[in-house]
Formats: sequence, C-alpha cells, structure tokens
Amino acid sequence: MAVQKRRQSHARSARRRAQWRASVKVPNVTSCPRCQAPKASHRVCLECGYYDGEKILTVEETE
Ligand SMILES: [Zn+2]
Repeated sequence: MAVQKRRQSHARSARRRAQWRASVKVPNVTSCPRCQAPKASHRVCLECGYYDGEKILTVEETE
C-alpha cells in the first residue's frame, strides 16, 4: 500500500476542489420559439408543451 510522505496543504486541497466546482455546469436556459418563455435547451417547453414544432405534453391552464 502506498503511504503518503507529506500532509497535503489546505491550499492544494482547496485548489483541487475549486476545479471540481468549476466543472459542474449550470443548465442552459433559452427562450421557447413558440411562447418565448424561458426553458431549458433540448427539453420540452413546460409552458406550452411543445418541442421542435410538435406537441409533446398537454399543459393544463392554471388561472
Ligand atoms: Zn413554449
């Protein structure tokens, strides 16, 4: 079994963890071409239920 020679510094650990944090991506938000509501790209619009010009979901009106 490999045994560590020196204790890793706090700064070194923090740098590595910061790198990991930067790799986590925030969801890409675009506007729907049909109703202009903000939606996640490559996902069905939750406002009108359309994706790529086709109706995928039946959206209930809540008013
Ligand atoms: Zn829409």
